Amino acid sequence: MLGVKDQTMRALEFAQQLVAFDSVSRKSNIDVSDYVSNVLKQLQFDVERLEYTDDQGVRKANLVAKRGKGVGGIAYFAHTDVVPADDWSVDFCGAFSPVVKDERLWGRGSCDMKGSLACALAAASEIDPQQQTAPIYIVCSADEEVGMSGARHINQFSKLFDEMVRNETVGIIGEPTELRVVHAHKGGCRVEITAHGKSAHSSTKDGINANWQLIPMLARLREMQLLTERESVYQNAEFDPPTLSGNIVITNQPLAANVTTSLARAAWFLRTMPKVNIQPLLQQVRESCEELGLDCDLRYSIDPLWVDPASPYVQQVLALAGCAKSEVVCYATDGGVLRRLKNLVVCGPGSIEQAHRSDEWISLEQLEKGTALYRRFFEYWGVRG
Ligand SMILES: [Zn+2]
Repeated sequence: MLGVKDQTMRALEFAQQLVAFDSVSRKSNIDVSDYVSNVLKQLQFDVERLEYTDDQGVRKANLVAKRGKGVGGIAYFAHTDVVPADDWSVDFCGAFSPVVKDERLWGRGSCDMKGSLACALAAASEIDPQQQTAPIYIVCSADEEVGMSGARHINQFSKLFDEMVRNETVGIIGEPTELRVVHAHKGGCRVEITAHGKSAHSSTKDGINANWQLIPMLARLREMQLLTERESVYQNAEFDPPTLSGNIVITNQPLAANVTTSLARAAWFLRTMPKVNIQPLLQQVRESCEELGLDCDLRYSIDPLWVDPASPYVQQVLALAGCAKSEVVCYATDGGVLRRLKNLVVCGPGSIEQAHRSDEWISLEQLEKGTALYRRFFEYWGVRG
């Protein structure tokens, strides 16, 4: 058995290998999935591989791996995609050429969340499969950062995930929480509202500018936003901020100022919360779109996560993590899609403050503590009695 230092070194090695794969969501995650799949097989996991092609025709892979006999056990969840690194700003290393400096591992995905996955792999490598009395599952999804279609495929098609649901396997989503325990998070709902015009040289009378049709809708969305910030029925005081955090992003095509705009689109994103019903808002948007002759497309909706903080599972995770109280966060995770697992919390190394930044890093201390904690989780639920 390895000492703490060696365990950390192993986690760091895994993390460096993982970060070196450019698995930005719009690209394929096949290479990084092949690497993880090989590591899992070396660690005696059986690997269920679920491939699909995304909206852009790019090949993606999810991995659902299992080791150990018995039923129940514990599942650890990570995603292998990362946010873009076009704005990477660290001068001593590239986004995908990770470097250790100042007791930190720098690189895109080091914190969100390849460092976490590395800790889980290192922890699993420390446990003798012969000693296991219940299974340990390690799950790696694609496309978490762009609508969680990887997790949707797992939920829909994975036989091993069905098995976990059936046998009430407990789950840990390893997103960065600095190893605090999170029992609830917001979800997300994205609606796209589109107006169609006609392109022409703007010096002629032939064009129809799509923006004129969209503009009245923007005013209505603004009204709705103000309503949700006023009315307590659209708020949940457990969260900070307690509101739906509505955001609008507007796009035009084409972008030339001397061509009439043929397409105007507003993407409206709400961070949904447990105990807040947004259906009346969606209904209002649909009716307005109909009235104004706009296309209305509910692109996706991810449930919020909520697990009773007083439940025996949350209390046990808290005890193992040495935390007094569980928390809530405002971002979404794959956990919202994987709600068929009743016992699910978010707990992972690294700080969300470091995620998605142009100088992303994770401290070696968090890698060390993350590996040790995941090992305790795996031992508690995988090597009982
Ligand atoms: Zn993440």
